Amino acid sequence: MTDGCVFCRVAARENPADIVYEDDEILAFKDIYPKAPVHLLIVPKRHIESLATLEPGDTEVMGRCLQVARQLGEQTGYAQRGYRVSCNCGPEAGQVVYHLHFHFTAGRR
Ligand code: AMP
Ligand code: ZN
Repeated sequence: MTDGCVFCRVAARENPADIVYEDDEILAFKDIYPKAPVHLLIVPKRHIESLATLEPGDTEVMGRCLQVARQLGEQTGYAQRGYRVSCNCGPEAGQVVYHLHFHFTAGRR
């Protein structure tokens, strides 16, 4: 765990979160300030700062995050209607939490 990282703390169960999916490497939970009717965050448990610091060894967990997105589409009932998966990288993209995460949003046209 990286000291002071809010998502590491969630992964370590030291910060509360409304968890909707978990496996050995990935956690998905509700965004505390939802910007869409469904707003979930898909987070690798292992600390990766951002897309800008991805390493070759991170490839599998990144792919698994997208498989989780697919599953969340089914779980939330938006698989057919559609949803957005996005990742902010760096200050000018509005990244606030420097522990890599995908936003899963749905329900807003
Ligand atoms: P980003 O701008 O991509 O870094 O987005 C960070 C997101 O994390 C924002 O949408 C926040 O609302 C959300 N967030 C920050 N802290 C927490 C937390 N403890 N639990 C759930 N969501 C959080
Ligand atoms: Zn972290």
